[in-house]
Amino acid sequence: MRACFIREFGGTDKVQVGDVKLPVPANGEALVRVRAASLNHLDLWVLKGRPGMKLEGEHVLGSDASGTVVALGDGAHGFAVNDEVLLNPGLSCGCCERCREGETSLCEKFSLVGVSRAGTFAELVTVPVECLWRKPSHLSFEEAACVGIAYLTAWRMLFTRARLKAGETVLIHGIGGGVATAALQLVRLAGGDAIVTSSSLEKLARARSLGAAAGIDYKKDDVAKRAKELTGARGVDVVFDTVGAATLAQSQGAVRRGGRIVTCGVTGGVKGEIDVRELYWNQVELIGSTMGTPGEMRLLMRAVESNRLKPVIDTVRPLSEGKAALEQMERGAQLGKLVLKVS
Ligand SMILES: [Zn+2]
Repeated sequence: MRACFIREFGGTDKVQVGDVKLPVPANGEALVRVRAASLNHLDLWVLKGRPGMKLEGEHVLGSDASGTVVALGDGAHGFAVNDEVLLNPGLSCGCCERCREGETSLCEKFSLVGVSRAGTFAELVTVPVECLWRKPSHLSFEEAACVGIAYLTAWRMLFTRARLKAGETVLIHGIGGGVATAALQLVRLAGGDAIVTSSSLEKLARARSLGAAAGIDYKKDDVAKRAKELTGARGVDVVFDTVGAATLAQSQGAVRRGGRIVTCGVTGGVKGEIDVRELYWNQVELIGSTMGTPGEMRLLMRAVESNRLKPVIDTVRPLSEGKAALEQMERGAQLGKLVLKVS
């Protein structure tokens, strides 16, 4: 079968598209014909080599996908051949203390499809049947392939971790990224206001058309000062951050007293400085978040279906252009998701 894979870690020059072995579903697994797969920044971390990750032969990239069930291994229940599905690519052990509490993304063995097993940039993929969710009928396969990581991550960050309430204002850094764009849509869905940042006037305008209350050009303006001005000197209730070190000081300056800063990514650097005095005096919460639980996925799927929410897609390319898509992700020029149409 055709797949987009690597044989060694490195830059996008290591990415190949070619033939790899057909996967076979083990007990409890489903074989899925991939119709579309979406990119995440995670794919670039995998490409560069994540700590502890080893390559044995070809490693198929990609974590998110939608498609149809082709076969089921022994003991894989709840789905049938030809069912249209999308993936929640989170993998957990299912039996540790955290998993038993339902907090699967806190499992010590937590991993993802495309990281600890073959990924989705391929004509076929095998996954544990627990990863499958029925594709909402109003979504195309391309749109359905975008729900897994980006929308689930944004959901947990906003509603579980930062406890967002209707009427609150959220500052979203770097609105081009898939998780940030998902957050904008979910904040609006929940009755909140979103202020977004970008260095691109085009992306700020597009974000306004998606419902952002205001946009800040972070190259031109002081983000914290502008966020304070936009909230009547009060500061935002929640800062939503996927950037990391580069935005931490701005987040501290922009958040209101008693507000929350929630973070899930480090596209702008790993180690940042915090002013501990401001943290305690203003009683600000600095909150980490990773992916989401099956419970959060269920709520997300309900919200997507009942509100007919459609993921924001920047570009759709064929699988053969996997390398070009990863290069586009690296440039960060997109707003919304980058998608590969597979079959
Ligand atoms: Zn576990």
